[in-house]
Amino acid sequence: MRPRDLSDHSPYVPGRGVEEVARERGIDPDDLIKLSSNENPHGPSPAAVEAIRDHADRVNQYPKSSHTDLTARIAEKWGIGDEQVWVSPGADGSIDYLSRAALEPGDEVLVPSPGFAYYAMSSRYHHGEVTEYELSTADGFAQDAETVLSAYGGERIVYVTSPHNPSGSTMPLDEVEAVADATAPETLVVVDEAYGEFSDVDSAIPLADERDDVAVLRTFSKAYGLAGLRIGYSVVPEAWGEAYARVNTPFAANELACRAALAALDDDDHVEQSIESARWAREYIADELDAPTVDSAGNFVLAAVGDGERVAEAAQERGVIIRDCTSFGLPEHVRISTGTREETREAVDLLNETLADLGLGVRA
Ligand SMILES: *Cc1c(COP(=O)(O)O)cnc(C)c1O
Repeated sequence: MRPRDLSDHSPYVPGRGVEEVARERGIDPDDLIKLSSNENPHGPSPAAVEAIRDHADRVNQYPKSSHTDLTARIAEKWGIGDEQVWVSPGADGSIDYLSRAALEPGDEVLVPSPGFAYYAMSSRYHHGEVTEYELSTADGFAQDAETVLSAYGGERIVYVTSPHNPSGSTMPLDEVEAVADATAPETLVVVDEAYGEFSDVDSAIPLADERDDVAVLRTFSKAYGLAGLRIGYSVVPEAWGEAYARVNTPFAANELACRAALAALDDDDHVEQSIESARWAREYIADELDAPTVDSAGNFVLAAVGDGERVAEAAQERGVIIRDCTSFGLPEHVRISTGTREETREAVDLLNETLADLGLGVRA
């Protein structure tokens, strides 16, 4: 007996971890600067850490009131109904919930290329078929309705990532609306706003509230610094609210994650500092790195270095872990997450030395 044929299911390739690299090279993890997974370099909100400590001795109980409270708090934040908030283990969990709620076997899903791998993975787990629309290096991965609609063929779900991973480009709200208007009534447009806090583009959440064919993904993993807890949510149209109870994995958003998210939502200082710092660092990288970069509205910058794998490997030798974008289908690019000011300055110096060494550095 073996698993079913999974040859269609490509494994998720995460950014490399500090412990993993330090162990491999026999060095102290503290000597490495990790800018490969778009994590918050300032750590979690201290209020979230306190909430985790305060509730640690209650984890013998299933998470119930914490889940209800978090749902209500998020609904209040966005001025929507509680049933429109689907709390999940990371935004990835919400991608699964939307797949379960929307897809019949054989239904098609349209995803960006390059793009976030989990859209296609989740679609395939749920017996869907995947087609792609191309974002182009030539125009800075510009996103408008036309780019998406030129590849649209009646898919059941269309994913838009704004800000986009790995490029950092955004799709203005009126273009999102144009996609929703032009697609069939039974097509759900899912706007992934995992990096929404870092950008100036208006959230699509009001669209999800007004219409029955737009949903939005949000996460506590990035600006809120809670990636290790796995907590996120989607905002769905009112008509979809009732489906949550039928598709969610019971108690998948855990007690400590819900408590920490509640505390983080009230810690404006932490999230504002995180956003400020990412904005500073993405400008700094664009200005100082000896390679062309793409304008980013996220907490990372995509850079055209010529050979992503070689540069990422050589940078790691110098103590900086960045993301080779080969797995995104961009073998000439690396993605550099924003660090603290100190980390970012040091990383850019080391990356410029690396590029010079490899004969790849060019001023943008
Ligand atoms: C990080 C990320 C997510 C969600 O991550 P979770 O940790 O599961 O919340 C979703 N979409 C994109 C594009 C991301 O980069």
